[in-house]
Amino acid sequence: MSYLDLDFKSRQSPAPRRRQSQRSFFASIHINRMIRGLTALLTLIAAVFLMLALLPDSSAKIEDSNLKLQRLHYPVSLPLKPATEKTESTATEMPQPEAKSQWETIQIKAGDTLASIFSNTGLGAGTTYEVVQLNEQTNNLSKIRPGQHISILKDQEQKLIGLKYMPDLTRTLSIKRQQDNSLTSELIHHPLEPIPVFKSGEITSSLFLAAEKSDIPESVIMELAAIFGWDIDFSLDIREGDQFAVVYNELFKDGEKIRNGRILSAEFINRGKQYKAVYYTDPKGNSGYYSPDGKSMRKAFLRSPVEFSRISSRFTNKRWHPVLSKWRSHKGVDYAASRGTPIRASGDGKISFRGTKGGYGKTIFIQHGGKYTTVYGHMSRFAQGITKSKRVKQGQVIGYVGSTGLASGPHLHYEFRVNGVHRNPLTVKLPAAEPIDKAFNYHFKEETRYYLSMLDLMKDQTLAQVKP
Ligand SMILES: [Zn+2]
Repeated sequence: MSYLDLDFKSRQSPAPRRRQSQRSFFASIHINRMIRGLTALLTLIAAVFLMLALLPDSSAKIEDSNLKLQRLHYPVSLPLKPATEKTESTATEMPQPEAKSQWETIQIKAGDTLASIFSNTGLGAGTTYEVVQLNEQTNNLSKIRPGQHISILKDQEQKLIGLKYMPDLTRTLSIKRQQDNSLTSELIHHPLEPIPVFKSGEITSSLFLAAEKSDIPESVIMELAAIFGWDIDFSLDIREGDQFAVVYNELFKDGEKIRNGRILSAEFINRGKQYKAVYYTDPKGNSGYYSPDGKSMRKAFLRSPVEFSRISSRFTNKRWHPVLSKWRSHKGVDYAASRGTPIRASGDGKISFRGTKGGYGKTIFIQHGGKYTTVYGHMSRFAQGITKSKRVKQGQVIGYVGSTGLASGPHLHYEFRVNGVHRNPLTVKLPAAEPIDKAFNYHFKEETRYYLSMLDLMKDQTLAQVKP
């Protein structure tokens, strides 16, 4: 079964009933009316298909990371013993009693292992080994957790012929004995159903209080702050009267809400200035938040490469150097943080130097295209796998705060160079990250239109409710 079929069925469960009742209604009336009716019906079906094509596909595609991973890895089969995966739109498969044998379901208790569970149900150590070494999927059975369930099916000779285990709510591992006596396994995915919700709020004191008042979960408001955090400083810029609106997914399974999904579109009005963002995945699989005209919401560089730090020394042309005991310029910014605090690459780029450099101590230089270079000094150590010429992503940990070289205490010395000239990292105008690839302009408009208009429509409705 293709994913499209599955998606279609899972999404359209209420629709067929409606269509059926319409069909019986048309059957009971005159032919000329019937033709008109059929035209209407066809239009209706066409509309349903159009909606299907436009709307929730992206949400289903992007929401469940398990599903996404599974899609990406689908064509890769394991050597020797293939492990298969499939996606089911139906509810969790419950073990069905089979002739002459009965599924036995065991709740895993603290201290239980697959071996102890097998032993309690009369299965030997040989079976444990046979199951665990089968492939990567079954190997995970060595990591079972208390509270989960394992269902076991044995034949009359007390031989294992089936096993079912749900590592989480979205997946079931199924092991079956085949006729040639070998075991096979498959991982069945039960995708969560995303349902977009709209929430909005106005700030009276803080963003978090406003979110709480509007019943917006903390994870969602954190994500909102991260999306707009490149343009708005949420600790300094927020004012009373600022407004925000957000469309995000709630993820359901069998009608029960499991968790909150990602933000699909959002708006923030800060001191009268409107910012808007929408989530988009291009056909190459690159995802991110973009303004409605396709510009990236993020900048090409992080303002600070160390989280949870304090600026201990700013960019200046002249300052007293405590270690050298003389006046000299400080062409970077120092971030004081405890030893071992992770240091992140402030932008995508290539490691152009990694080693010890005089007063800088353990240092990394990153080249970002032809124009920009960032420098990270006094590291205690480099992150694993960070070597010269290696490509790094924005936010990737490249090393850890220390005090190697000429440093009076643990801190990161950070430099931002434009065409080789030192610039103040705190005030330099940071370039925006790559916009949408021009080739995907049409795709972007089509994919994001629904969530952007949802934001506007719902906002208008909320306003209409407030105003008489
Ligand atoms: Zn410094």
